[in-house]
Amino acid sequence: MSTRPEPHTPPLDHARYLREALALAREGQAAGSAPVGAVLVDASGKVVGRGRNRHKEPQTADHIGDAGLAHAEMDLYFQLGNPEQPETLTLYTSLEPCLMCGGASALMGIGRIVWATADPWGGSGRVIEWSQHPAMQDTEVIPCPDAALEHEGAALFAPEAKRAFPDEGWALWQEKYPQETAGVKATGLD
Ligand SMILES: [Zn+2]
Repeated sequence: MSTRPEPHTPPLDHARYLREALALAREGQAAGSAPVGAVLVDASGKVVGRGRNRHKEPQTADHIGDAGLAHAEMDLYFQLGNPEQPETLTLYTSLEPCLMCGGASALMGIGRIVWATADPWGGSGRVIEWSQHPAMQDTEVIPCPDAALEHEGAALFAPEAKRAFPDEGWALWQEKYPQETAGVKATGLD
């Protein structure tokens, strides 16, 4: 008999919310930050939080910024505060969360995480299997449920991957997403 609790998160239209996360990723790119976005959705399908990467923008009272930890998920969680019944919430991201954001989601007690595109270098999964993460045992993880959106997200993030990641990381991106990384030029961020 499994000791894993029954999921608290009802079925949701993943593609709909991943598209919202991708739209926020484009907003981040337009603002000069990295193209990563996130939305948090409750059990009724209502969006209760929105965040996007802000690492090249100033920090304000409302938004974490101006730091390498200004990831989309952290922006969302800092705005959100303490949600009620976090186990009923689903986090949608345009890109597989990193160790920091995966850990933050676990500390928040988020019930489910869904991402559009894998991050073979920066994602938690390279360092520790999502299924083995000690804090992740109560969180359902759904990677890349929609192939079209996965490729859309890969094409969107590829220039940032080339700019931000070491050669070893870029090589993993080229292996995972050969079509989206072909001929990519790095973005102008530093
Ligand atoms: Zn992160």
